[in-house]
Amino acid sequence: MPDRQRSPAKQPAPVLAAADCARCDAVCCRLTVVVQPEDHIPSHLTTELPGGLRVMAKDEDGWCVAVDGSRMNCGIYDSRPDVCRRFAMGGPYCDAIREDYARDHARAIELVLQ
Ligand code: SF4
Repeated sequence: MPDRQRSPAKQPAPVLAAADCARCDAVCCRLTVVVQPEDHIPSHLTTELPGGLRVMAKDEDGWCVAVDGSRMNCGIYDSRPDVCRRFAMGGPYCDAIREDYARDHARAIELVLQ
């Protein structure tokens, strides 16, 4: 058998269902959302990063604090930041971050020894 150089095993991309906000784990609402001066977001929903950038605040689980957990939607939808308005559900960026999220969470599955 000839000697072959092996390249490192590449993680296969997870197979994702089509984007659907009703089933999605709100991955986009875990991203860092930069608040622009033109956005009218109540200050208690924002925070300032060490570099001075104003962003949407996150809760301890990493979700944007504006997520309405009881309805699983954006609690400030009509006045959400411009960056959220421009985010295209099912677009290339949405798919890319969902793929990363699925890959990271697949790795995080705990091993239970019995
Ligand atoms: S402001 Fe609304 S749409 Fe934007 S990240 Fe927060 S919950 Fe999601």
